[in-house]
Amino acid sequence: MDIFNVVCPACKKKYYADMLLYSLDVELHCPFCDVYFRKEKSPHVFVGGTAASAVVRIPGGLSKEMIYQPKRKK
Ligand SMILES: [Zn+2]
Repeated sequence: MDIFNVVCPACKKKYYADMLLYSLDVELHCPFCDVYFRKEKSPHVFVGGTAASAVVRIPGGLSKEMIYQPKRKK
């Protein structure tokens, strides 16, 4: 099973979830503080799982514009 690690934007705790959730356009659920958030709102998303040697990291320097930019669907 492929997993990814994500940091909750509310409580800042890291947990992992199934890659399926990452590929789908759904909100993620934090098991610690019970909040739902979009992965774009997370301060860190680590794709590749804890065991992978080459971890693809989205740099933490997400700007406010990136986070709050609404996704336009056509
Ligand atoms: Zn949380």
